[in-house]
Amino acid sequence: MQRRCRPHPYIAKLGPDTLATAVTPAAVAERTLSAPFRRRQFATLLLDQGFLGGIGNYLRTEILYVAGIHPSQRPVDCTPAQIAAFAEAALDLPQQSYRHNGITNDLALATHLKQTGYRRRDYRHWAFGRQGKPCHRCGETIAKIMIGGRRCYICPQCQPINH
Ligand SMILES: [Zn+2]
Repeated sequence: MQRRCRPHPYIAKLGPDTLATAVTPAAVAERTLSAPFRRRQFATLLLDQGFLGGIGNYLRTEILYVAGIHPSQRPVDCTPAQIAAFAEAALDLPQQSYRHNGITNDLALATHLKQTGYRRRDYRHWAFGRQGKPCHRCGETIAKIMIGGRRCYICPQCQPINH
């Protein structure tokens, strides 16, 4: 019996894969500001595989931290600079994590922290899993919040709410 190869319905509904190197930051920015997505909170948008594929919960935290965006914000609430930073981070962080054993922190900083005795759970990420610890950028205390039904970590100073 011969079977035809059809796209699986689930696969067909996936957004662009963040590990596909052909996807550009400009395309991600345009998609983020498009009608189906621009009025949804980033917190839930990033867990929607129909928006972007390949982003799990820790990448959600890390992308928003690097872009300086509070997870309760929507794309329409953001400045053009924030959208540009988001689009870069949404591609860079999954690709770096894939190539560097799950590390989403700045690689030079992670190496430095490792050499000075930090444990993996303390140098691996910018914010994820680091509640109560100082932000690697500003020293403010990282907070844990529940949003979109999942835990998310933010730096209140690096990710202000600007609406
Ligand atoms: Zn900070």
